[in-house]
Amino acid sequence: MGDMRIATHRHGLLMGRNSAEMTMYKKLWLTVLVSVLVLSLAVWMFAHLLAGHRASSPRICNLSTSSGSGTTTVTTCPKKLLVFSKTGAFRHASIKDAIVALRKLAAQHNVAADFTEDASVFTYENLRQYNAVVFLLTTGHILDDNQKAAFERYIEAGGGYVGVHSASDTEYNWAWYGKLVGAYFDRIHGHSSVTQATINVIDRTHPSTVMLPAKWVRTDEWYNFATNPRGSVHVLMTIDETTYRGGVMGTDHPIAWYHEFDGGRAWYTALGHTSESYNEPLFLAHLWGGIIYAAGYERSIAG
Ligand SMILES: [Zn+2]
Repeated sequence: MGDMRIATHRHGLLMGRNSAEMTMYKKLWLTVLVSVLVLSLAVWMFAHLLAGHRASSPRICNLSTSSGSGTTTVTTCPKKLLVFSKTGAFRHASIKDAIVALRKLAAQHNVAADFTEDASVFTYENLRQYNAVVFLLTTGHILDDNQKAAFERYIEAGGGYVGVHSASDTEYNWAWYGKLVGAYFDRIHGHSSVTQATINVIDRTHPSTVMLPAKWVRTDEWYNFATNPRGSVHVLMTIDETTYRGGVMGTDHPIAWYHEFDGGRAWYTALGHTSESYNEPLFLAHLWGGIIYAAGYERSIAG
């Protein structure tokens, strides 16, 4: 009996403790429930904001791939490039050859490409349809203030920039552009004559360099730059100044590079002065690889 009473008493104590615990648990559950609800609401709102942001960004499409039967096929992404070759100063005779080559490359890779020298196409609403904008052998002052602002907005929204050769001899008074391209052409020390030189391909993992030899010997006009872009860009290739005359940057003379900048991607090559470049398979592969990077096509086009 005594034992039972003690047991009942203990049981009663346990019951009392339990109901106190139950109330505590109820409070805890309520707190957890409210927290989960608030969190869900936050996630839902964030997803909505993100969706809204995506809808207004240049890369609306999802660059997903489906690899049935071993072939990579493009799914939903409309692929489109803008190639801009307006010149406000020196005009390269190779522009026409470069356009022919890019037209061919784009067609081969099922990429739509618009070619223009009309700066009025630089509105945000128009630019946002393109995965990348190629400044092909541009020079000098080519965009007005509104067009510059539209291009900045395009890059900030995740757009791509490709600069070819004299794209670094363009818009010297537009500081943002200077940072985007990485470095300006050195107008004091200029460039070499068209001559053979050896390029050190120091990063051969990028879409624009993966096909290149470690030492790439070719003929072109070799730029000096007003500043060394290393530090703000990822350098892909340097030129060996001991292999030609006219280089003034010393042992570290970057000649092609890329970087993520202000929300977008930028790729630049100093190569491509000559018309012959645009019939050179390795140079064209290098150029197309740069476009693939800038346009964000890496996951959907093999090369
Ligand atoms: Zn040139």
